[in-house]
Amino acid sequence: MNTSLPVVSPRAFDFSTTNTVNQCARKAFLQYWLGRRGTAVNYPIEFGNAYHLYREVMDKVFLEKDTPEAQWHTLHEYALNKTIESYPEDPPLEHKKSFLTRIRLIETCEQAFDVWRDEKLSGKTVILASEQSFELALDDTGYTYGGKIDQLLEMSGQLWVRDFKTTSYMGRTYGFKWDPNAQISGYTWAARELSGRRVMGVIISTVYNTKNIGPQHHSFLSTRSEFALDEWKLDYCDTRRRITLMEQDNYFPKNTSSCDDYGGCFFRGCCSMSTWIARDEWLEDHTVEDRWDFMKGEDT
Ligand code: SF4
Repeated sequence: MNTSLPVVSPRAFDFSTTNTVNQCARKAFLQYWLGRRGTAVNYPIEFGNAYHLYREVMDKVFLEKDTPEAQWHTLHEYALNKTIESYPEDPPLEHKKSFLTRIRLIETCEQAFDVWRDEKLSGKTVILASEQSFELALDDTGYTYGGKIDQLLEMSGQLWVRDFKTTSYMGRTYGFKWDPNAQISGYTWAARELSGRRVMGVIISTVYNTKNIGPQHHSFLSTRSEFALDEWKLDYCDTRRRITLMEQDNYFPKNTSSCDDYGGCFFRGCCSMSTWIARDEWLEDHTVEDRWDFMKGEDT
């Protein structure tokens, strides 16, 4: 990789990094080893981040201050203000996700507050930790696995992870896409390591928004057997071994089968250049350096 830009190995590896390596190692190199991202606002990601912030503030403050019911609405308004401040701007009208406006964000959080309040009043769910960062050793493999769990909770006395998602695509198969899924397996394994207890699985709490539908809140459950967790560890270690080889060989191969995924890879222009000098110029012109830190961020 004959780039003149600074190459820095990720400090630790999480689902986003290893998943991108499995999609296309070259994309992972550009995104995580060079730390480059496009300058255009990614409205779905920003909308998801803002919604995550709302959920984080609600439960972190609630956990720290044991907020009484009379102050729940004040807490909601505080969290909502922080959320709105964090959202950069409404998308332009011609944007394909132009419906992800501040008004839609407010509606999403208002509805989330109703769900949050009903859950608290029912008394069946107890939040044990919110936005729990971790980096854990995988037995004696020499590898670690990192990430951030949105919530660790007890439901009717049983331990679950909850992961908040936002989406504009929810066909009939959405609920099935989490089995198998490396992020769900990794979080189930990590929650078990952190708690020392049996973890039932992950509640995928999803907010669905399209131009004409939403916000709608839906929850899906995804569970893992011991066999599935053992196999996840083997898969993860296989990815880590391949990463070590790529770093030793100083070559992160392109997977051109992924170029059309998600509406087309942003880095297509870079990969099309025929020299690394031209690629570096493309990266300087179209991206900024912004290194991923899983302790702060989360994909939606
Ligand atoms: S354009 Fe294709 S080969 Fe290049 S980084 Fe993207 S997915 Fe990989």
